[in-house]
Amino acid sequence: MKILLIEDEAKLSNYLRKGLGEAGYSVEVADNGVDGLHMALQGSHDLLILDAMLPGIDGFSLLAALRKSRQTPVLMLTARVSVEDRVLGLQTGADDYLVKPFAFSELCARIEVLLRRARDTGESARPTQLRLADLEMDLLRRRVSRAGQRIELTAKEFQLLMLFMRRQGEVLSRTQLAELVWDMNFDSETNVVEVAIRRLRSKMDVPFAKALLHTVRGMGYVMEDRAP
Ligand code: CA
Repeated sequence: MKILLIEDEAKLSNYLRKGLGEAGYSVEVADNGVDGLHMALQGSHDLLILDAMLPGIDGFSLLAALRKSRQTPVLMLTARVSVEDRVLGLQTGADDYLVKPFAFSELCARIEVLLRRARDTGESARPTQLRLADLEMDLLRRRVSRAGQRIELTAKEFQLLMLFMRRQGEVLSRTQLAELVWDMNFDSETNVVEVAIRRLRSKMDVPFAKALLHTVRGMGYVMEDRAP
């Protein structure tokens, strides 16, 4: 899960980056509103942690600009506790609010809630049929076929393939896969990801003429239909 942290207080920012990193999130940091907005619009973050008072563009204006094109969940941090500010933030499109100073455990709990909510509502708005070349996935019937041939997958293999199919062309690292499919922090001692990828390939790639799941050396894996 990728988090963009927009916070100008270096001490707090470093503390949060370290803590969230240890909690298994991948964290990008901006220390002003201009860079923050640019990164939020360019990147693909699962969540934004946004300080209200920022140099450049303040948090409220940043959020208003972001909401014109992005629905990324936003957790706002503020030192100000007035009801007006809170209302303004929520009207502008913040999903939740945390007043400084806050406990790190509370921040983590709020993040989890927002991510879960985004996941739940996101699923229903997404297509239930995924396709790449001659590979088809029916998410409702939990069916996979390639060149019209039915492929039997385990639950984890199905989940793994679904992730690749939804994020076609995007390189996914072993750390990301471990996090997203197994819900665990990546431990270099375990080869659970490699083993699952090998099994998946033996079913959906090896028996067919063309490979769709590719290894990107030192980076991870990508699903795409490459020219022969
Ligand atoms: Ca600030």
